[in-house]
Amino acid sequence: MSSVDAIVIGSGPAGITAALYLARSGCSVMLFEQMAAGGQVLQTAELENYPGFPKGIKGYELADLLSAHLEGLTVTRSSEAVTEVSGHAGAFTVKTAKSSVTGKVVVVCTGAHHRRLGVTGESWMQGKGVSYCALCDGNFFRGQPVAVVGGGNSALEESLYLAKLASKVYVIHRRDAFRGARIYLDKLEAMPDKVEIVRSSTVTALHGDNALEGVTVTNVNTGEERRLDVQGLFIYVGFEPGTAFLPAAVERDAQGFIVTDAEMRTNVPGIFAAGDVRAKLCRQVITAAGDGATAAQAAFVFLEQLHA
Ligand SMILES: Cc1cc2nc3c(=O)[nH]c(=O)nc-3n(C[C@H](O)[C@H](O)[C@H](O)COP(=O)(O)OP(=O)(O)OC[C@H]3O[C@@H](n4cnc5c(N)ncnc54)[C@H](O)[C@@H]3O)c2cc1C
Repeated sequence: MSSVDAIVIGSGPAGITAALYLARSGCSVMLFEQMAAGGQVLQTAELENYPGFPKGIKGYELADLLSAHLEGLTVTRSSEAVTEVSGHAGAFTVKTAKSSVTGKVVVVCTGAHHRRLGVTGESWMQGKGVSYCALCDGNFFRGQPVAVVGGGNSALEESLYLAKLASKVYVIHRRDAFRGARIYLDKLEAMPDKVEIVRSSTVTALHGDNALEGVTVTNVNTGEERRLDVQGLFIYVGFEPGTAFLPAAVERDAQGFIVTDAEMRTNVPGIFAAGDVRAKLCRQVITAAGDGATAAQAAFVFLEQLHA
């Protein structure tokens, strides 16, 4: 079994930054990633709010740049999914289906994945009209009407992206007010021919025998139902953290996000968490990267104390 100073799990912006800072501090690092480097950035068409890129940057371009930043450093990369973390500070064991590695500290950067809407037919219609990624699937709906569900930044940004492809975009939100940034809502409201905002409404039924042909939306105040004939339904109703592999002793909040202090320390000595996986207010690339840097520094100080 190989052994390193630090094991970083997840190579989104938080994990890549944590690995970068740890390696530059002289630590040996094992970085696990079950999919592709970049995490949710790969699902983002264009980032308009990442400082340093005033003209915006495509998600895949930022993901490539993040990943390239690790080249030549003391970071060993594994493309396996972590299934279990056990042990204690100074001797953690991280397991995948095929291998095990020991590390003195663990930095959890496993981000979050899309929450399901919970409407009947959602599972079997995934890939047949229901999607959680406009960037991945939007092109299939070129020239067709689609609906987006959600009220946060992801829903609004992806509605803007879809408005360039689809014939019509319905933005369905269960509340009157949106959580997402005003700038996105202004842009959507400036396209009344293309975009219709359906407020205070939820999707209560999906229609279609072999693929999605329409949805029923129900007004939460009046109970009034309306059918929208859409071929695509893009769901952005929040995120769930990826923490199933962690010991139960690691404290989570009511939604399952990992609780940390300001230095990204969890309640278990030697286990740190950074990025979207932890309980916090603002889940963005910049805050994930910031968390990753802080977690790396805190982990480095912890390692120094272990060795003292
Ligand atoms: C559609 C969309 C649009 C967005 N737009 C913006 C935007 O414009 N600006 C902005 O700043 N932010 C945006 N965000 C949010 C931003 O992408 C996230 O806040 C950021 O990527 C979080 O980084 P992270 O490293 O914490 O987690 P993630 O990016 O989620 O990365 C976590 C990584 O961990 C891996 N992983 C999970 N479990 C395991 C395991 N068991 N073993 C190994 N690997 C594992 C995952 O495969 C993933 O690659 C957007 C997100 C989405 C979905």
